[in-house]
Amino acid sequence: MNSLNIPEREQIDTLVGKIKRGEVKVYDLIKQHLDLANSINLKINCFITILDNALENAKELDKLIAEGNKEVLDKKLLGVPFTVKDLYLVKGTKTTFSSRLMEDFIAPYTSTVVQKCLDEGAILIGKCNSDPWGFGGSGENSGYGATKHPLDFSKTPGGSSSGSAASLLAGVGYFSLGTDTGGSVRLPASFCGLYGLKPTYGRNSRYGIGAMASSFDTPGFFARNIGDISLLQSIMQGKDPKDATTREITSTKPAKNLSEITIGVAKEYFSEGLSNEVKNSVNQFIEKIREKGAKIKEVSLPTTKFGLAVYYVLVPSEISSNRARYDGVRYGKKVSDNYDENLINSRSHYMEAEVKRRIMIGTYALSAGYSDQFYKKACKVRTKIKNEYFEIFKEVDFLIAPVSPVTAFKLGEKSNDPLAMYLVDIYTVTANIVGIPSISIPAGKDSSGMPIGAQIMGNMFMEENIFELIKRIT
Ligand code: GLN
Repeated sequence: MNSLNIPEREQIDTLVGKIKRGEVKVYDLIKQHLDLANSINLKINCFITILDNALENAKELDKLIAEGNKEVLDKKLLGVPFTVKDLYLVKGTKTTFSSRLMEDFIAPYTSTVVQKCLDEGAILIGKCNSDPWGFGGSGENSGYGATKHPLDFSKTPGGSSSGSAASLLAGVGYFSLGTDTGGSVRLPASFCGLYGLKPTYGRNSRYGIGAMASSFDTPGFFARNIGDISLLQSIMQGKDPKDATTREITSTKPAKNLSEITIGVAKEYFSEGLSNEVKNSVNQFIEKIREKGAKIKEVSLPTTKFGLAVYYVLVPSEISSNRARYDGVRYGKKVSDNYDENLINSRSHYMEAEVKRRIMIGTYALSAGYSDQFYKKACKVRTKIKNEYFEIFKEVDFLIAPVSPVTAFKLGEKSNDPLAMYLVDIYTVTANIVGIPSISIPAGKDSSGMPIGAQIMGNMFMEENIFELIKRIT
């Protein structure tokens, strides 16, 4: 067998209802999910750490539920098992960022978004494999081996949040946190047929998450349906004094009727390299939306074609400067008492090849003599792209596009060709350059049965309106 069975799972609020009424014991539920996690991990390598001690928390919750504890019974994620990408700090757990450099690191505190889920009664059962610090699009750069696609072990589930998507598809937990700096939630969501949200930059706190590129990083997550996405987003968001880029979420714009909604289709998202199967599926999906009554409008976003170039200058630049803390003294392995030797040997020996590649590109782009030509120029183009996108949202309410030019590809197919790998990100990076929300939703399947996703983007902080739209068109 080179695939897994995909079990059916109910919506989160249905499950929580059963737990509250005592129809499902949290202990039994968590045991079932831990057993499944342990068994699939042997086949698809989706976890770096499985938290078997979650059973203790489950017992404790069952006790409080049986006692009728009012505060506990009000929790929105009561007893719900979930997992997180191993970039999230969770106090007392091994947190590797999927790099060998950090294989001994135990997190001293818990990230804000994870804490918010725990405060609502969710139970963390595993820390998922990914590309190191999120550097990649297939999971193959992980220091712990690649994750395999649950529907076909010879393929990637997409990355960088590979283990989060693969484990959720395989039935473990009810949601999984990932990070999206240039597509790392949306791409695996589309390869795995899940819902994957990249929220507005600043909507969810980045506190306690291993930084990739700070002005692009967005804590996002995977779920199995839009109802769960909207519930989870409402729990995770909001101002966090520990992340100065966050803000309070106040009122939202009222949802319009479908007939008053205009959805933009930009031809730049249907460019060269887009597979016919993806193109046809996304076009059929757009037709379906039109039939339901929304207006579809062809638009043009010419700066989109610079997105990938801007991304692969600015992101490595931020990556290289964010790596300064991994010097074998503050973070990382100590290999020598001599500072220089320690710095060089620790990083040379324990950082994965892609980590070193990005540090080198970034250091180059930022170096004296080149920063005007690369870094500063890319910053200027970023502003142009932003302005163009903000303008288009005066004409249309949302944009729809493919997530990726291809469906899940073979492990090894692109891993020796960084440029081919970077091209997979062509349709996802722009939302991060601009900071707008984007969600990947299932839109079809290719001829080998692999899922195809479509992404819906909206203006800053328009998440609820995007969710409302999806509820009406699916
Ligand atoms: N694949 C992209 C990259 O390699 C996106 C990564 C991400 O979103 N973390 O940079």
